[in-house]
Amino acid sequence: MPPPPLHYQMSLPPPSHGFMTPPPPLSQNFMTPSRGYYGFMFVYPTWVFSNPNPTILNPSFKPLLNRQTLKPPRPYPKPKHTPISSVLQWNRKPGLAGETPRIVVITSGKGGVGKTTTTANVGLSLARLGFFVVAIDADVGLRNLDLLLGLENRVNYTVVEVINGDCRLDQALVRDKRWSNFELLCISTPRSKLPIGFGGKALVWLVDALKAREDKSPDFILIDCPAGIDAGFITAITPANEAVLVTTPDITSLRDADRVMGLLECDGIRDIKMIVNRVRTDMIKGEDMMSVLDVQEMLGLPLLGVIPEDSEVINSTNRGYPLVLNKPPTLAGLAFEQAAGRLIEQDSMKAVMVEEVPKKRGFFSFGG
Ligand code: ADP
Ligand code: MG
Repeated sequence: MPPPPLHYQMSLPPPSHGFMTPPPPLSQNFMTPSRGYYGFMFVYPTWVFSNPNPTILNPSFKPLLNRQTLKPPRPYPKPKHTPISSVLQWNRKPGLAGETPRIVVITSGKGGVGKTTTTANVGLSLARLGFFVVAIDADVGLRNLDLLLGLENRVNYTVVEVINGDCRLDQALVRDKRWSNFELLCISTPRSKLPIGFGGKALVWLVDALKAREDKSPDFILIDCPAGIDAGFITAITPANEAVLVTTPDITSLRDADRVMGLLECDGIRDIKMIVNRVRTDMIKGEDMMSVLDVQEMLGLPLLGVIPEDSEVINSTNRGYPLVLNKPPTLAGLAFEQAAGRLIEQDSMKAVMVEEVPKKRGFFSFGG
């Protein structure tokens, strides 16, 4: 049997309608067996013009059978018993206990226990909760809060220049890259000494100037105190009305903390809370480290937080990205956030169970 003609195979019009031959009339074209290919070109425009969208041609046209009117009316949703106020609480700024601004000095006596780490992390946690925070780096000569916050390249002026009249206060305030309601203020440039006469009164003037800012009066002023108990320490604690004492669970740090506590009380700061930093549960279990309860017993202070030893702290210090901003949060980051929460509520932990109580084996327990 001979093969079917080419126009059948390819759905082309029969070869009789050649290059110069006029195309067949529409009706004839529909009837031809080859309309699969060319027929579409004729059929489609015909269908569009015979079924135009009436709303395009006449904008005032209203279809009788509106889909919405045909739908059965929905039953009225039953009111839920959750009051709106409790739903809104998710986005609510927590209530701040005490007068504002709260001026908190973060101190320890001993160096390297985590004052600057605490200032950066607690400060940013407070800012994330919606409070306006100003962190003052009062560690003259060895400042490093700017490094921890990753703001070292943005510090152009310091408090010393503000007091000398070389710049305005707002020029010395460095806004955080991530949270615009967190500002950093450095007392002086690194490796420089405090000018003679710069003392507690200068810092009190500074705090008053911050309070007087109309639109940006802070809720919290955190002062990162230098180590030791000399002039720098006295300057840093002068404007404060509450203190956070950072300590590690070792005897040297505890002795310094005890001494500092006495000095704070002499200066009239009675509201002192404690953060125990670099706690290692494994060492406490092996009785190689003092437990948090022991520390609490020795200092007799309410506990604001217990921060575990965490390698991520060092990592975040090097990156200039405070731990509390890490996603997913690390254990130490969560502990700093909780400490910030307790600072807002003026609350403290009554007792801490850092040591795990070993599970008792029951009669029906197998293995393990
Ligand atoms: P300070 O301001 O009291 O001198 P820093 O905050 O600068 O102390 O901390 C000193 C060092 O200890 C830093 O290198 C910091 O990374 C490290 N550090 C602080 N807290 C912790 C922690 N919880 N876990 C691990 N390292 C920590
Ligand atoms: Mg420091």
